[in-house]
Amino acid sequence: MRVRVDRERCCGSGNCVLAAPEVFDQDDADGLVLLRRAEVPPELADGVRRAVDLCPAGALGLR
Ligand code: SF4
Repeated sequence: MRVRVDRERCCGSGNCVLAAPEVFDQDDADGLVLLRRAEVPPELADGVRRAVDLCPAGALGLR
C-alpha cells in the first residue's frame, strides 16, 4: 500500500498525525502535512486507513 498527500488541500488539522504518527508529520513552519514514508508496511495499514477516513480535507489517498 502506498499513501499520497495533497498539501494544497491540507488544512493542518493534525488528525492524520494522531492516527498514524509513524507515517505522517506536520511541518513546523506551516502546520501542513508531511509524509514520513510513502510505502506503508502492513502493520501500519490500519492506522493509515483511519487517517484517510479522519482527514477533514480529503487530502489523503491510497493506491
Ligand atoms: S488530517 Fe488531513 S487536513 Fe489534517 S493535517 Fe492530515 S492531511 Fe492535513
